[in-house]
Amino acid sequence: MSVGSQGNLVTELEEKIKKLEKENRRLKEAQVEINTAKELYLHIFQEFPALIWRANTEKLCDYFNTTWLNLTGRSMEQEYGNGWAEGVHPDDVDRCIEIYVSHFDRREPFSMEYRLKNRQGEYRWILDYGRPYYDLDGSFLGYIGSCYDITESRRNEQRLEKLSTTDALTKIYNRYKLDTVLSDEIIRSKRYGHALSLIIMDIDDFKMVNDTHGHHTGDLLLKNIAQILQNNIREADTLGRWGGEEFMVICPDTDLNGSTLLADKLRTAIEGYELPHVTSKTASFGVASFNTGDECIDLVKRADSALYSAKNGGKNRVEAEIR
Ligand code: GH3
Ligand code: MG
Ligand code: MG
Repeated sequence: MSVGSQGNLVTELEEKIKKLEKENRRLKEAQVEINTAKELYLHIFQEFPALIWRANTEKLCDYFNTTWLNLTGRSMEQEYGNGWAEGVHPDDVDRCIEIYVSHFDRREPFSMEYRLKNRQGEYRWILDYGRPYYDLDGSFLGYIGSCYDITESRRNEQRLEKLSTTDALTKIYNRYKLDTVLSDEIIRSKRYGHALSLIIMDIDDFKMVNDTHGHHTGDLLLKNIAQILQNNIREADTLGRWGGEEFMVICPDTDLNGSTLLADKLRTAIEGYELPHVTSKTASFGVASFNTGDECIDLVKRADSALYSAKNGGKNRVEAEIR
């Protein structure tokens, strides 16, 4: 080959290299553009009202939107990886991580509620929905989560729950709650064979209190008696107002003997209680305990007829069902 033709070949190769380098640069720029376009959604999430996070395939978080960072008052760097878990309430963190990891491993969506510390150091209740997300070719990329501050709605739910289960006058449980607890306890007794007793109590000659001292005094007596009962039962017992001047105590894990003793303790406490002017302040009690095959109604009926016997027997008495 002549020197001249060798020189031509070198020039040709140099041009090819330049072309390839140019093509390479173009491809790299295109890849950067594609990556930027893929991350565009993160810019859209930035100011979203929901708190948004993203985790990579290693379960490590690599993005939090401004709404999240504004709530926690922490930097993206502090939240990265597992940093976010530092803000979760110590009582919730293990449960959260268990839900997160187990769903992540199965690539399943999850939702969980937990308390997250805000920038003022106050814990807020968060409802967090996590979903796996995939690339256009179907390959798994990690998880994206959207979270909502549900503190207010939880408070309202609790207020409603309290309202719907509380007797307005005496502030103890109402009949609706007693019905719920009693049927739950009956289910438990049926399943595990636990003892269960029921006390129904009725104030003696209460009409006379109203007639003699007025409705207001009657109300006051009801409130005071509810308090006496509350102060004399065990933590496991459930007290509620069953009707006008009737109260009920549900005693789990207690046999007829135990609940009869408790009823007598309550009777004595009421008898010894002093309310100005009111002379009649005794009560009668009927006690029954769970038998195999009982439904709520059976237990209530037997406690009620024992109460009837206590009234007929002269009031200010405890009568247990006859077995
Ligand atoms: P007994 O000893 O047989 O139980 O007689 P009693 O007078 O206690 O029973 P009775 O059923 O005749 O009267 C109950 C009264 O309780 C009648 C009703 O007006 C009154 N009452 C019911 N609910 C309330 C209430 O919320 N406040 C007041 N002040 N009275 C009530
Ligand atoms: Mg009555
Ligand atoms: Mg009465």
